[in-house]
Amino acid sequence: MRPLIGVLALQGAFAAHEAALAEVGAQTRQVRTPADLSGVQAMVLPGGESSVMSKLLESSGLFGEIQSRLSDGMPAFGTCAGMILLASEVLDGRADQRSFGAIDISVRRNGYGRQIDSFEADLAVEGESSPFHGVFIRAPKVESVGHSVHVLATHDGVPVLARQGNVMVASFHPELTGDARLHRLFLQQHDFQHEG
Ligand code: GLN
Repeated sequence: MRPLIGVLALQGAFAAHEAALAEVGAQTRQVRTPADLSGVQAMVLPGGESSVMSKLLESSGLFGEIQSRLSDGMPAFGTCAGMILLASEVLDGRADQRSFGAIDISVRRNGYGRQIDSFEADLAVEGESSPFHGVFIRAPKVESVGHSVHVLATHDGVPVLARQGNVMVASFHPELTGDARLHRLFLQQHDFQHEG
């Protein structure tokens, strides 16, 4: 059984995530409404603009639905803006911006500064024998992580890939480099066989 992974498709970089997930054997579905969540076993929250996504999550009725699935243990992988959406604390967010609080990290929006708002770096990822090329685009900067958060990669001493329970987050865009290892890692952490 190929797991069905929902890709939040309100805004942002969702298409490339679908391609990476397909490459590692998952079925995908674009999620825009609560009905789209039916049968979805895990979700990817893509990059884009987290304050816009926050608004659209509320107006579509998805915010509460996804939040309750996350608290029931639905696996989720958030990248860039998606990391912001999953974080427990968002610094420099818009006043009305909401996040799911699914991983105990504090992130600062656009925390790498506007002058170098985009950069690329090779990252040593725990368990991977060769570096993963990280593309950072107006990336959030992790300012602190809780005790239960496992850091899988850092850049200049700052966590850029981390996991807590079923939730994995990256401050970069793993879907943009044609390297699906992190999507595979996300899926491998979960046994979807025995789930509905
Ligand atoms: N700066 C964006 C935000 O605050 C994130 C950028 C991205 O996802 N590439 O949501």
